[in-house]
Amino acid sequence: MKQTRVALVTGGNRGIGLEVCRQLARSGVTVLLGARDLQAGKAAAGQLASQLNVTAVKLDITSDPDIAGVRAHVEREFGALDILVNNAAVLIGEDSSILEVSDAELRDTFETNVVAQLAMCRAFVPAMVARRYGRVVNVSSTAGQLQSMGTYAPAYSISKTALNALTKTIAESVSGTGVLVNCVNPGWVRTDMGGPHAPLSVEQGADTIVWAATLADNGPTGAFLSGRRKIAW
Ligand code: NAP
Repeated sequence: MKQTRVALVTGGNRGIGLEVCRQLARSGVTVLLGARDLQAGKAAAGQLASQLNVTAVKLDITSDPDIAGVRAHVEREFGALDILVNNAAVLIGEDSSILEVSDAELRDTFETNVVAQLAMCRAFVPAMVARRYGRVVNVSSTAGQLQSMGTYAPAYSISKTALNALTKTIAESVSGTGVLVNCVNPGWVRTDMGGPHAPLSVEQGADTIVWAATLADNGPTGAFLSGRRKIAW
């Protein structure tokens, strides 16, 4: 019987991801802090309290070799992940209008915010299903919410809508296996992406992500969550 849950957080070296690592580790979870720059990951892990169990791993989510390397590490050390937090994302072409956004902006955004998120799920969800336990949190945004879709950051917004659809599809495909798959809106948070004027702290932004990462077995799946509640697509 395993003593602690094991989590992997992508983009764990700064912003919301780093705070998710902190909060999960504080709750007793063993955390792998994914960072595409391993030195930045180690420096971030080093900022956390020394008693917390957080280890940096090199993980560019758009790199198949990086994903394979982390999967091999996980299989060797733990067998499988219990928790996958797909937090890493890019915000490109924020000020472009939809009819001006370039193919490159759209492709680069989708590469990280959609294709790589699926690659991460492909790499880690089957072992969760085999062990009949898993929590997958895809960090999304109300920018991707169809109900309130506007003109803001079109490449990013459309990518988050696609991430939501991906979440729903994966959740359905593993339904009844003990693996709960949800997407979470953290709110507008003071990070490099959110900027200094955002109303929420990283502690507040991480809250629902950590909640969804540690849901009880009867928790929601295939849902879009914000403020610890389901919200409309
Ligand atoms: P952030 O401060 O810009 O940090 C982004 C993180 O993602 C960094 O660690 C970055 O690594 C990493 N990353 C980007 N591309 C990567 C790749 N290919 N491989 C691995 N890591 C990569 O962003 P944040 O505000 O913390 O946002 C975290 C999540 O919350 C994102 O999914 C974002 O869309 C979502 N969100 C944020 C807000 C907000 O107001 N902040 C609102 C709604 C949703 P590097 O340091 O190497 O660049």
